[in-house]
Amino acid sequence: MKRLSSTDADLRTAGKAIKDGLLVAFPTETVYGLGGDGFNRSALARIFQAKRRPRFDPLIIHIAEIDTLDRIGCRDALPRSLQEKITVLTKTLWPGPLTLVLPKRPEVPDLATSGLNTVAVRFPSHPAAMKLIAYSTGAVAAPSANPFGYLSPTRAEHVEKLLGDAVDFIVDAGPADIGVESTVLDLTQEPVRLLRPGGTPREKIESLIGKIESREKATDAPRSPGMLKSHYAPRTPLVLLTREQLLEQIAVDRDAGRSRAYLFFDQETREESGAVDGFVLSRGGGCAEAAASLFDVLHQMDGLSADCIYAQRAPERGLGAAINDRLSRASMRREDD
Ligand code: AMP
Ligand code: MG
Repeated sequence: MKRLSSTDADLRTAGKAIKDGLLVAFPTETVYGLGGDGFNRSALARIFQAKRRPRFDPLIIHIAEIDTLDRIGCRDALPRSLQEKITVLTKTLWPGPLTLVLPKRPEVPDLATSGLNTVAVRFPSHPAAMKLIAYSTGAVAAPSANPFGYLSPTRAEHVEKLLGDAVDFIVDAGPADIGVESTVLDLTQEPVRLLRPGGTPREKIESLIGKIESREKATDAPRSPGMLKSHYAPRTPLVLLTREQLLEQIAVDRDAGRSRAYLFFDQETREESGAVDGFVLSRGGGCAEAAASLFDVLHQMDGLSADCIYAQRAPERGLGAAINDRLSRASMRREDD
């Protein structure tokens, strides 16, 4: 793996590498992605191989211009009400951490969409990502740059450690700002459905296009493997607790003379617990700060060889919903474990 910086010259090198069918890990505002040309079958196959990602888990195609959307998806095939919603969302929230699922154009390889007749598209706002995509083919398939099912990478070092030479280049532009993956919305039919909570809060989407439905409530939802029960998981078992349950657990551990790996949502809870160590997601108690540090802290905690991580739930609002989604899936054991 060759390291690149986010200078214009390096981003041109990275863009050319993607044009040549190579794989480039790069920063986005959500997490680091593993990019390959979205229309190149062998590059797509290498993405699945590098991540050991099952072929049933479709990729998100990243673009750097709104017009490219129509090379990938068919929004004109949708009823007018959905087309209007797409226009409002793309005008207001793109570029940004929002992925739209639309009917797919036949030119998009089936490998990218795992054989579905729909395709997921996102326009990221990270300046290095935007340039790299523009310097490449303009349509870059980029799942998170981690082995399938494991914690997502929010720093170049995470990618290096996790994927190493399975990747040709990595663009290092420091830690990702948002820290949780994009929100995935299905716009192929009414009602619009939230397939994955993420960097764009549900409240913001609903303020623009009205009420949306949760994936769990839908009966005929398309398969969205990002919704696998166990995902984003550290090797160390993780138990997700409310604030009160965590305080109780710490008191029990203290009486038994043991200390464990505790993950606090905020500093106030840590102080109240009296625990001498432990990790805190947000000093100021805000969800955006907590989301930004979530995966980095979990990577660190997974290196402690602890028996178990006890993690505190975030408040279920704004980015807190995405944090709780990731923590709750991190707490499910994988079938192969
Ligand atoms: P990742 O790229 O690792 O953030 O994961 C991408 C996720 O986006 C997948 O796991 C799915 O949940 C979702 N996704 C991608 N394409 C589609 C699609 N065509 N229909 C529904 N969900 C999709
Ligand atoms: Mg992922």
